[in-house]
Amino acid sequence: MTAPRRGKPPVHWADLTPAERRESLEAEGQRAYRARQLSSHYFEGLRTDPAEWTDLPPALREQLATKFLPTLLNPVKTSLADAGTTVKTLWRLHDGALVESVLMRYPDRVTMCVSSQAGCGMACPFCATGQGGLQRNMSTAEIVEQVVDGARRLDRGEIAGGPPPGADPGARDRVSNVVFMGMGEPLANYKAVVGAVRQLTTPAPDGLGMSARGITISTVGLVPRMQQLAQEGVPVTLALSLHAPDDELRDELVPINTRWNVEEVVDAAWEYARTTKRRVSIEYILIRDINDQAFRADLLAKVLRRRGNWGWVHVNLIPLNPTPGSKWTASRRRDEDEFVRRLESKGVPVTVRDTRGREIDGACGQLAATEVDEGL
Ligand code: SF4
Repeated sequence: MTAPRRGKPPVHWADLTPAERRESLEAEGQRAYRARQLSSHYFEGLRTDPAEWTDLPPALREQLATKFLPTLLNPVKTSLADAGTTVKTLWRLHDGALVESVLMRYPDRVTMCVSSQAGCGMACPFCATGQGGLQRNMSTAEIVEQVVDGARRLDRGEIAGGPPPGADPGARDRVSNVVFMGMGEPLANYKAVVGAVRQLTTPAPDGLGMSARGITISTVGLVPRMQQLAQEGVPVTLALSLHAPDDELRDELVPINTRWNVEEVVDAAWEYARTTKRRVSIEYILIRDINDQAFRADLLAKVLRRRGNWGWVHVNLIPLNPTPGSKWTASRRRDEDEFVRRLESKGVPVTVRDTRGREIDGACGQLAATEVDEGL
């Protein structure tokens, strides 16, 4: 599960802690208080053009920009959906690797879905990203930059939609939620992902000042890392991609299940909820005639309820967005309805996820996979 070490990106301001920023500036022969000025431009003002840093001497602006704000993400393609309120961006990293992020603007919130690895080594057979394998881990700053880019576009008024008339204008142009559900298995790149969460949640001007409650980290179930995250002191929401309540099927749909089985991953999820007091989300992609049978809904309810009924869990059902050429497709509507009904009848809270971005290939990793196929 160790990522290849190719293509280490240059160090960026968003890779460094506030103390490291001050030290780096001093190593450049600069005064440490400049760190706060640069952080304020980057995290608060979202200003990456040094010409706008008017509180810094002109010669110093270029020097700091070159040293600390190297370009990490180069846009390759932007796709719009949902009347321009969903924006999916394909990025090329400095070494040519492709990743994607998606901004989704709702009337009451803005969610960024970010990638944490270029490719993914988990090999889930229904997922386009999984078919290409893992290229490399992304750095903390490469993750943070996806969010900063979304925040910048909102700030510039480039994204359609927004809150209804009369809503609090302060809520208009902020990224309120970040979900680690783009390319990659976040907990397989643990250090950079937790580093990114810290950059997102550190109060301004040293970070983006988001609430940890607005951040969701998904995992296929790397149990030791789930346990570590529970002790990390960052109360993010954990989303466990379960997709099957029994080992026989989950071994096929989520191959890492052969290492940590259903009992072990659900135990770790329950433990996470118990430790952090944060409700865990169980992700379950509904695949026609594969995992959407009524008996599996009953079994899922049993597996979850066995750990108690104190509101520790919520099930998110996701209609499958099939990858091209895949043998699997989305469930019939009546099977989806019955699945929901059976979970609800056993007291398990459940929602069917909004399928934003479907018209621009909403399944994780699909856009990047398409571009790779075209030899870009
Ligand atoms: S579904 Fe997620 S964990 Fe599985 S291969 Fe795709 S990106 Fe990786």
